[in-house]
Amino acid sequence: MKRPLLRAVFLFILLTFKCKQRTTMKRSILILGLCISLAGYTQENQTDLSYYLPQNISYDSSIPTPKEVIGHEVGEWHVTHDKLMFYMQTLAKESDRISIENRGATFEGRPILLLTITSPANHSRLEEIKKDHMALSESGGAQLDTSQMPVVVYQGFSIHGNEPSGANAGLAYAYYLAAAQGSEIESMLDNMVILMDPSFNPDGLQRFAYWANMNKSIHLNPDKNEREYHEVWPGGRTNHYWFDMNRDWLPVQLPESRARIKSFHAWLPNILTDHHEMGTNSTFFFQPGEPTRVHPLTPKLNQELTREVATYHAKALDKIGSLYYSEENYDDYYYGKGSTFPDVNGSIGILFEQGSSRGHIQESENGILTFPFTIRNQFTAALSTIEAGYNMRTKLLDFQRQYFSDMRSEAARSKTKAIVFGDSKDASKAWHLAEIMERHKIRVHELAGNTTIQGKQFKKGNSYVVPWIRRTID
Ligand SMILES: [Zn+2]
Repeated sequence: MKRPLLRAVFLFILLTFKCKQRTTMKRSILILGLCISLAGYTQENQTDLSYYLPQNISYDSSIPTPKEVIGHEVGEWHVTHDKLMFYMQTLAKESDRISIENRGATFEGRPILLLTITSPANHSRLEEIKKDHMALSESGGAQLDTSQMPVVVYQGFSIHGNEPSGANAGLAYAYYLAAAQGSEIESMLDNMVILMDPSFNPDGLQRFAYWANMNKSIHLNPDKNEREYHEVWPGGRTNHYWFDMNRDWLPVQLPESRARIKSFHAWLPNILTDHHEMGTNSTFFFQPGEPTRVHPLTPKLNQELTREVATYHAKALDKIGSLYYSEENYDDYYYGKGSTFPDVNGSIGILFEQGSSRGHIQESENGILTFPFTIRNQFTAALSTIEAGYNMRTKLLDFQRQYFSDMRSEAARSKTKAIVFGDSKDASKAWHLAEIMERHKIRVHELAGNTTIQGKQFKKGNSYVVPWIRRTID
């Protein structure tokens, strides 16, 4: 019998005993209802790591759980960025499946960490795996045998810092990847490199966690008018300078984006996921988005593969009884968004949106929405993503190779051989555009001398040439 049910039975016996002979049938039913709801409520307020994790496998007891390191259970409090990083660093020390790198600092000085998670055998030849993976998208890629190559999955959480279920799910997810035992996880890690970006927006996450925790009551209050659910301006959505970083994947103007784009181009992941939250009354969304709002440059096969990946999310969410939807509400159009940017880079970008509890527990049109429930859905989607990646491995690798091969053919057929751009008055404007292109590994040369093309003058020092080929090779 489950603990809440035991609690309900115990409360029922206690209350009916106290009422003695005065207990009528009607009153008994009322007391029973009260007991069940009280027991359920207690459960919502209490979380246990097992609530999130698959239960049919064993876990390595030498790997510390989040609670053992940060002092509270996943979902009990909103994890602050420093605690999140402390746990990830601890896991990297304890697990030979995980390595960690610090890619810089946010404006508030927080580290921008990235975890690389794969089997210990793959870790020992990681540079070789990366080199082969990158070669797949180059002109000699046809020679490579994709059946022998790991698939690369990049998973990022809470780019909007006040959409916290993703980053908090990262605690349980990283624990799972480090501690899960058995042939299934071992085979998965043998055939996959997971790049885990536990917090896309460290400053925003910290700002929001501070607000939600500061206003948490000892007895949780789900009333939506509670102060906890009304974060003060400017809120945790943005980074330090209030910039929405889910618009910056293309312009790459912020330190967080610059670190991320560098990792992206260093690995060219086959799947990239972007875990968000939406309004409290919604359920759970995963891409594909609205079919009419997909960017026309995104290949059709990309959307078909996104749809195939989606079947894994649907199956996993069905298993835990969570509601979800797809192909509605959300676009896949602007390449400056995390879930769309990969689609024009031979990768599959996937957006997740979870109905937000905002704080720890909140009333919604669908009933009480708890923070742990939102975390569990994100955890489940993270796991179904790697299951899809594992099962679709060669299909995804072949798709990526074909994508770049098609781009090369298209470029070869084109009458255009290069693009020249510049600004005769403002050299710095042209320089900044060239810099953005270089961040995206697009080859850019300075113009060798003054020239006139189709009646327009381009000055040396103010102009650049972009050859009509895809990208530089490191
Ligand atoms: Zn968002």
